[in-house]
Amino acid sequence: MDRHLAPSEMRDALAADVRAGLTSTPKTLPPKWFYDARGSELFSAITDLPEYYLTRRERAILEAHATDIAQQCMADTLIELGSGTSEKTRLLLRALQATGTLRRYVPFDVDATVLTTASAEVAEEFPEITVHAVVGDFERHLPLLPAGGRRLVAVLGSTIGNLSPIQRASFLHVLAQVSHPATACCWAPIS
Ligand code: SAH
Repeated sequence: MDRHLAPSEMRDALAADVRAGLTSTPKTLPPKWFYDARGSELFSAITDLPEYYLTRRERAILEAHATDIAQQCMADTLIELGSGTSEKTRLLLRALQATGTLRRYVPFDVDATVLTTASAEVAEEFPEITVHAVVGDFERHLPLLPAGGRRLVAVLGSTIGNLSPIQRASFLHVLAQVSHPATACCWAPIS
């Protein structure tokens, strides 16, 4: 596991965001701070609520199209930004495995706890691939993503909706810069 965020750095960044956000009008706090061990657990529970249709819809789309996506991109590396529990990701992983191309999964998340558990579970289901987890902030650490391979980048669960339009533009710009030409992207809808 690569760790680009030391706990002390997280604390300093949180303090800076709280100071800036809670002294501004309107008051704001970046959603990335919702996701510690308890926050990720709560998010997971929210996705089970009948009102939260996004997860069910997204799963249905992946169930219908994961095979097409895998056959179109023939990726050997699946990178997932804001990977959380990596639950729906398994549909993409299974489809890529069925095409015979899958070699590596790179889950990337700001929450080391959820990442550790999810990586172990994926490694158990897919013992023949490398699981290379990365703890980082995708607003700062995209250039440090493991290089190489034919890559598919997935951003599931409306994670991109956590970013403001300006942050989103910058995220996409940096992602385009760090993407090798042989990189495909798979986006979830913005809620
Ligand atoms: N993709 C998963 C989780 C979605 S919730 C799913 O579909 O279920 C959003 C996830 O993005 C959380 O796990 C959170 O920790 C992570 N996240 C939010 N902001 C982030 C940031 N700036 N950098 C890295 N991960 C982030």
